[in-house]
Amino acid sequence: MTSLDRPLLFIGGEWVPPASPETIPVENPATEQIIARVPAGTSEDVDRAVAAATKAFDGWAGRSMADRGAVLDRLHASLAARAGDIARTVGLELGTPLKIAKAVQAGLPLTVLRGYADLAVRPSPDETIGNSLIVHEPVGVVGAITPWNYPLHQVVAKVAAALAAGCTVVLKPSELTPLVAYLLVDAAAEAGVPAGVLNLVTGTGPVVGAAIAGHPGVDMVSFTGSTATGRAITHAAADRIAKVALELGGKSANVILEDADVVKAVKVGVGNAFLNSGQTCTAWTRMLVHRSHYDEAVELAAKTAGGYTVGDPFDEGTRLGPLVSAAQRDRVRGFVDRSRARLVAGGPDAPLPGRGHFVAPTVFADVAPDSELAQEEIFGPVLSIIPFADDDEAVAIANNSRYGLAGGVWGSDERALAVARRMRTGAVDVNGGAFNPFAPFGGYKQSGVGRELGEYGLTEFQQVKAIQR
Ligand code: NAD
Repeated sequence: MTSLDRPLLFIGGEWVPPASPETIPVENPATEQIIARVPAGTSEDVDRAVAAATKAFDGWAGRSMADRGAVLDRLHASLAARAGDIARTVGLELGTPLKIAKAVQAGLPLTVLRGYADLAVRPSPDETIGNSLIVHEPVGVVGAITPWNYPLHQVVAKVAAALAAGCTVVLKPSELTPLVAYLLVDAAAEAGVPAGVLNLVTGTGPVVGAAIAGHPGVDMVSFTGSTATGRAITHAAADRIAKVALELGGKSANVILEDADVVKAVKVGVGNAFLNSGQTCTAWTRMLVHRSHYDEAVELAAKTAGGYTVGDPFDEGTRLGPLVSAAQRDRVRGFVDRSRARLVAGGPDAPLPGRGHFVAPTVFADVAPDSELAQEEIFGPVLSIIPFADDDEAVAIANNSRYGLAGGVWGSDERALAVARRMRTGAVDVNGGAFNPFAPFGGYKQSGVGRELGEYGLTEFQQVKAIQR
């Protein structure tokens, strides 16, 4: 037993024992030590959680938006009181360096939750179209299945929006990083979120995730994770025509045009690609550079990558922590080992800490746009640099991907905006425009279906009804 062990599930407003005594170990990826155990939930646990969410639905959906907003307001206060714990927990179970964990892993979900509490108390007025009154109603019981890379943010983006909309939720966090979800549920219990409105069932994807995706009582599955799992979930939900919202992988391009501020574009671009050890779905993993700046950009990217301090997430100076697991590290190293592109920083022989699932920040130049490195989502600190001759070629290379989640463009404002409009992705940042946690977030192509965050994210959890008068 460790002090971080969480032996129970949260169902119907109570901490309850799981149906099976099986547990899942949670590893600290920087030390490779087991730091806690959580229940390996079963389909029986999912049945109980869906029953509790179904029972709670009418009462929660029947409350006014403003009333639900007041509950979210209390939830925000309870969660904010745990900000330090959240950052430490994500530092332990994922390995995000503490400074970044505080700002992003704790700060971002609090901002998103605050936004939904505010949005709920300012409901949009009823819309009319001719003789029709258009009303928005909660979609029902939501199954929320989340990954490990931003483990609280991805949970809150779903739970806060679903609760604001009037839905009830059965949550299954990633089995690799389940501990931070417990902090949200602790906060929900403290804040008086009504029984059954938020339920937590930990467990593996193939058991608990699949049981949620295929459950006849789940009206909508909101999923963030890999494209392969998104496909399996869509198939499971299709049998009963349940709604799905999918936030999947990415292979985003950072396009540095002829008239860009190259130094800024490269520095910000490398930082973006390596944030959270490259385990970010929106990471700009392909840096596309106009030929006139190419050599300078390659040299600067290599130097910037070489300046990263890799190591213990709890050391103040650490910029790059480990990858989440041995499997993820081996997968990323496989891409590095197989690549025939020109290695300019990091690589398989770069020095690393003796323990932990580390990969050195790695930069390849002269990467072929059709190669594995440029096409596959690596999900590690690996940047590919690709030259282009003009804006048309830049757009063609940027769009040469089965993904379409995010991207960046650098250049004079008009020209960069024109390129941004031509990129087939759900988001583009022009000249370092900051991430906006209230703007719609989601993907084109195999990066997903639907949008999260802000008002668009709320709408995703609603049905639309036309009442004729
Ligand atoms: P994953 O698909 O392996 O797992 C995600 C979740 O799905 C986990 O909770 C897992 O237990 C569950 N799961 C696995 N198999 C399942 C099944 N058969 N049925 C139901 N649930 C199942 O992904 P991951 O490795 O945890 O996360 C990394 C991936 O997530 C990357 O591809 C990344 O791009 C993507 N991601 C996307 C976004 C986005 O918003 N677009 C955000 C973060 C991560």
